[in-house]
Amino acid sequence: MTKHTAFAAEDAAVAAPAPAQPGRRFTSYPPSSCRTASAQRMDAGAAGAAARATGSWLDAAPRRAEHDDWMEKHPSALTGFESVLAAAKGKQVVMFLDYDGTLSPIVKDPDTAVMTEEMRDAVRGVAEHFPTAIVSGRCRDKVFNFVKLAELYYAGSHGMDIKGPTPESKHAKAKAEAVLCQPASEFLPVIDEVYRALTATTAAIPGATVENNKFCLSVHFRCVQEEKWRALEEQVRSVLKEYPDLRLTRGRKVLEIRPSIKWDKGNALQFLLEALGFADSNNVFPIYIGDDRTDEDAFKVLRNMGQGIGILVSKIPKETSASYSLREPSEVKEFLHKLVKSKQSKQRD
Ligand SMILES: [Mg+2]
Repeated sequence: MTKHTAFAAEDAAVAAPAPAQPGRRFTSYPPSSCRTASAQRMDAGAAGAAARATGSWLDAAPRRAEHDDWMEKHPSALTGFESVLAAAKGKQVVMFLDYDGTLSPIVKDPDTAVMTEEMRDAVRGVAEHFPTAIVSGRCRDKVFNFVKLAELYYAGSHGMDIKGPTPESKHAKAKAEAVLCQPASEFLPVIDEVYRALTATTAAIPGATVENNKFCLSVHFRCVQEEKWRALEEQVRSVLKEYPDLRLTRGRKVLEIRPSIKWDKGNALQFLLEALGFADSNNVFPIYIGDDRTDEDAFKVLRNMGQGIGILVSKIPKETSASYSLREPSEVKEFLHKLVKSKQSKQRD
């Protein structure tokens, strides 16, 4: 896969569009002002329009079939909610939530990716009933400033910086009072150095921003013209040539630079389950909700464990190890509300 294709594939919309409406294309054709145009030209134009319309129909059918097929394999966690509940019955639910694209919409400026008050209420509600962790590629402090809920676990920098909730939280464990885990702390100086180098190198590309996430870096290109994406990635790669201990991965309009250690969101999930006392437990039901490639590591861990479920947030079919799907953050909020409601009704019974 070429570098450019990789970007395009990540961002391309392949969802089945509404079928084209050929009738509508012809109702006003030709416009009265054009009735004197030659019959030949008119026929050619109409034929072209007809071909385009037919093409749309032909294109839409396989895309819709692909979408339906994907939804069958990864059903909505809302319509399949009762199945989720049945699988979780009698087990301790532990909730893992990605931030960008899961709790907040993807926005042009990553610094403005705030979550709504309603979403905060939904997360707060879930955390009242289940141990809950935010697992993000962002720096832990930054994601905490967005979420602002002290009762949660936070795993920043793709899980390389994990901290427990405040000791008052009912889900806090004794060893969770301080930082729980920072497996890449020796990389801090080099990450700072590369941050400075990348900021200087990419300054010539309008819209490119480099975010320092403490244990990893993000080069955002949401605001960069598509023709410049390849040049940007080449610049980033040229800087990284000097740092073989760092690796590059791609996310949704972002290039991620991380230490080359085997530690990802999947490791963070396992670490937190262990910290919560659920290592090798059959009575736990982790639910991980995320929208990006980096969340796939956590989905794979759940698949391998044969416990819990992964939920991919996506409007379009994507290769995923998640078992369920939700279309967007508003559906994540609805799912969290449903989970709380079902817990409350069980408590009343
Ligand atoms: Mg995300």
